[in-house]
Amino acid sequence: MGLHIVQHNQLLESNGGGVMYKTKESYNQTDWNDWKFQLRNNIKTTADAKKWINLSQNEIMGIETSYKKYLWTVTPYYMSLMNKEDENCPIRLQAIPNVNELSNINDSQIDPVGDMDNLKTNRVIHKYPNRVVLLVSDTCSVLCRHCTRKYHTLNKEGTYFRKNNQLSYEDDFSYIENHQEINDVLLTGGDPLIKSDEALELIIKKLRSIPHVNIIRIGSRCPVTLPQRITHNLCKMLEKYHPIWLNTHFNHPNEITEDAAFACDRLLRYGIPVQNQSVLLKGINDNVDTMRSLIRGLLGIRVRPYYLYHCDRVNGVSHFSTSLVEGMNIMDGLSGFETGFSVPSYVIATKLGKIPIQKTYIKNENDRVIITNYKNQTLDITEYLSSE
Ligand SMILES: *Cc1c(COP(=O)(O)O)cnc(C)c1O
Ligand code: SF4
Repeated sequence: MGLHIVQHNQLLESNGGGVMYKTKESYNQTDWNDWKFQLRNNIKTTADAKKWINLSQNEIMGIETSYKKYLWTVTPYYMSLMNKEDENCPIRLQAIPNVNELSNINDSQIDPVGDMDNLKTNRVIHKYPNRVVLLVSDTCSVLCRHCTRKYHTLNKEGTYFRKNNQLSYEDDFSYIENHQEINDVLLTGGDPLIKSDEALELIIKKLRSIPHVNIIRIGSRCPVTLPQRITHNLCKMLEKYHPIWLNTHFNHPNEITEDAAFACDRLLRYGIPVQNQSVLLKGINDNVDTMRSLIRGLLGIRVRPYYLYHCDRVNGVSHFSTSLVEGMNIMDGLSGFETGFSVPSYVIATKLGKIPIQKTYIKNENDRVIITNYKNQTLDITEYLSSE
């Protein structure tokens, strides 16, 4: 394959023409479909990226400057989804570093969501009464530029988690064992599926042995960024520990590929419900049309839209921020126009938990109670106030 590229380059260069880029077809398909091969061949340098896409000057600067602060890695698979020429391609914007990562808007923070305030052990974040996060990995197959936990998945200077990543899980499991109110454990990080099946099974098996833990959830972007990871073996292991749920992270309809659909289908066939948590990102999905195709596309692969996060004011992520009003307008364009179960809840993740941002469909006017539908038509439902 390398030979093929070289030959082609020579041909085109002699014409003074462009470059032949790598594609999925540049690889032996057995290698391509092997998730470990994908990770071993991840793109981490300007030179690597140039083999795939026509990097713009801005992108090159982004890679070279943000590198001082944030790590960068992209799977060949996710790279293969990029438009080769367009730097505004929604996949490129999510995965190629941007110079703006080094400048923050006024009130952005390292941890606006307060994960660190609620960290009870090395890995357990306990914020809500009945459910906890268990941080099981400090990295991902693709390091998304908009990551809400950018501080701990990416900061090369090291964070609490990076330093303690090697600690045993004993304290974390004891914490969950000692808190009977915890019935829902959400494995995240980083991406839990970056771990081997064996390492993952040790954690899940232990959690399943705790009687009060009912639901085990996995938060993973692998269906989107490394669908090859969703193997039969992984699913066979997971189904032994049901109820297992998986939440993933599609942000744009271009991510709904045959491979991604196949990965989700496989999870679903093993009885693992797949839901989606998107982030509202400027220039990527901050308009009704894109969001509509995204949620329709998700229903088409039987993945249920769950949350649409307002982009957190996280250091290094400010250039993706939209205003709350823009977010609410997008929701207005979906609610009622699209089927109810395809419309995600629009939420802001805060130190107080996730808070839904919803338009008020009910109001009081001159002692009457008025409700409004999605087309702004109104109904007087004052009679409904009484039960007679
Ligand atoms: C998001 C989150 C959860 C899970 O919240 P759900 O609304 O149940 O999906 C649990 N704990 C923490 C700390 C979270 O950030
Ligand atoms: S997959 Fe999730 S945790 Fe990992 S970098 Fe992307 S947004 Fe962050």
